[in-house]
Amino acid sequence: MAKKQFKAESKKLMDLMINSIYTNKEIFLRELISNASDAIDKLYYKSLTDDSIKINKSDFKIGLSIDKNNKTLTITDNGIGMTKDELETNLGTIAKSGSEAFKSTNKKADDIDIIGQFGVGFYSAFMVASKIEVISKAYGSDESYKWTSTGIDGYDIAKSSKEDYGTTITLTIKDSTDDYDYEEFLSEHKISSIIKKYSDYITYPIMMNMTHRELKENSENEYEDVTREETLNDMIPIWKRTKSKIKDEDYNTFYSDKFFDYESPLKVIHNQTEGVVSYNSLLFIPSHPAYDFYTKNYEKGLQLYSNGVLIMEKCAELLPDYYNFVKGVVDSPDLSLNISREILQQDKTLKTIAKSIETKITKELMDMRSQDRENYEKFFKVFGANIKFGVYDNFGVNKDKLKDLLLFTSSKTKKLITLQEYVDNNKEQDKIYYCCGESLDKVDNLPVVESYKDKDIEILYCTDYVDEFVLQTLINYNDKKFTNIATSESDLSTDEEKEQIKKHNESAENMFKTMQSAIDVKEIRFTNKLKKHAVCLTSKGNVTIEMEKVINAMPTDEQVNAEKILEINENHELAKKLESIKDEEELKRYAKILYAQARLIEGLPIDNPTEITNLICEELAK
Ligand code: ADP
Repeated sequence: MAKKQFKAESKKLMDLMINSIYTNKEIFLRELISNASDAIDKLYYKSLTDDSIKINKSDFKIGLSIDKNNKTLTITDNGIGMTKDELETNLGTIAKSGSEAFKSTNKKADDIDIIGQFGVGFYSAFMVASKIEVISKAYGSDESYKWTSTGIDGYDIAKSSKEDYGTTITLTIKDSTDDYDYEEFLSEHKISSIIKKYSDYITYPIMMNMTHRELKENSENEYEDVTREETLNDMIPIWKRTKSKIKDEDYNTFYSDKFFDYESPLKVIHNQTEGVVSYNSLLFIPSHPAYDFYTKNYEKGLQLYSNGVLIMEKCAELLPDYYNFVKGVVDSPDLSLNISREILQQDKTLKTIAKSIETKITKELMDMRSQDRENYEKFFKVFGANIKFGVYDNFGVNKDKLKDLLLFTSSKTKKLITLQEYVDNNKEQDKIYYCCGESLDKVDNLPVVESYKDKDIEILYCTDYVDEFVLQTLINYNDKKFTNIATSESDLSTDEEKEQIKKHNESAENMFKTMQSAIDVKEIRFTNKLKKHAVCLTSKGNVTIEMEKVINAMPTDEQVNAEKILEINENHELAKKLESIKDEEELKRYAKILYAQARLIEGLPIDNPTEITNLICEELAK
């Protein structure tokens, strides 16, 4: 019978596995043990809701055995098992999690990257095995099947005669080569140390026959080999262990194993809370977003356990949306095991835990901000948008909790600062000035920024499209109002200067009227705010120019128009030139050109580029 073929992605990945130069080959065992543990979890979970299944938790176990003669390593579990169809779909295609990730990377990663990056699961066994045999019997089924593969050329499935439900995986270990000692995976000691290293926290016993040389009974110098079945793992989940005894490395291994991340987390938050509600939580702030973080498939949530037993893979209720990047586990003896999703959502205990978790995350981020600024800035570059979203989401109900986590770039140092730092730097000011644009460079070069720089006033540069919405939600910070310097709200001139410019504008009223008839602005006026620049565009009213850009770029029908003001530098040669023009048509042409310039500087589109370029050429040719 012809062999069945693997799916294309699986083949590619398997090829990488088989020919891998990845040195950390021992992780295959972690993957297989974790699959076995998942399979037992599934059966145990089922038994909780199905009275016809009578299994004691203590009956569950994972077995390991080594056959040195046949060069095999066998992993057995009494979990839920697989039907013929399941063998086919689960093992004929690469690990779902792995393959999605594999498909979504378009960079040409080397094999080390891929193996390290994604939990590639079952297939990793091909790093050490020349042949894999999986015999499985699904719980409740009478039939068992055997899946065999020697690698890339496909697999066979045949009927088998396994008595008990569960799965037995037999690996024929590769012969050692000059480069790699594969046969070490046939050593009891090696296997037991790999289990200790990666799978110690697995909550079911991992048992293996271990042989020790011991003194013979009633003898002082005669030894014999004694073989006994031993439990290799501690079984106490890491989150329940004494904090002082856990090394960073243990946390990192647990994290990368459980959440398929090749990079260590930026922050580990481990809490053992006793009180009205008791719970342990082990939370991680990743160093980078998950591969699917920006897709609609991404689901927030924490793994939920009741006394060490998994009750939910992703409990969304435990995290507010703005902390959706947090990974981790929560374990509470106060939660009932037989709880349905719907009931859980209403559960008081769960709500209390969620609240407490949120407070802990916020506190940890605040501490990081004040004590470990470098890492905090790293965090903010990756997840700052989440904090901003948290501030303005839900009409700002959470803004006070989150505002001190915000960072903006200072116009003076070009470094990130907090709002408190801005206020401390500028005690005498009653406003917090900000300016928005697409990039730091663009904002820094805006005409309106010039006079503030001249007066040595610090501005917050906002380059994220949500920034303006965030500041508008906050309204003020420590009673200091956020003020956009590109709006008419912001004016640094003295009363005298104000009076002077008012007079100048009044005298030019007719000229501006003529100019305004040619362009679509709310107002044209002279300004004393500019130095070298001739013109700038500001706005008045609720919609600013930056908001117009952002909202009009969104894929909705909503279009808005900022009320624009064309401001002309009264001290520029151009102002004098304008005032000397008598011909109305000439004034209108100037208005069109100047307005187009001001729009260009702001990064706004020009509706009539041919007309404008012709006008410019005509003027140049004069
Ligand atoms: P992943 O565990 O990331 O889904 P794997 O390639 O390791 O990917 O496994 C693929 C699937 O095969 C698992 O999701 C599970 O459904 C099934 N499977 C693997 N090992 C076992 C096992 N020991 N018992 C039952 N099902 C298993």
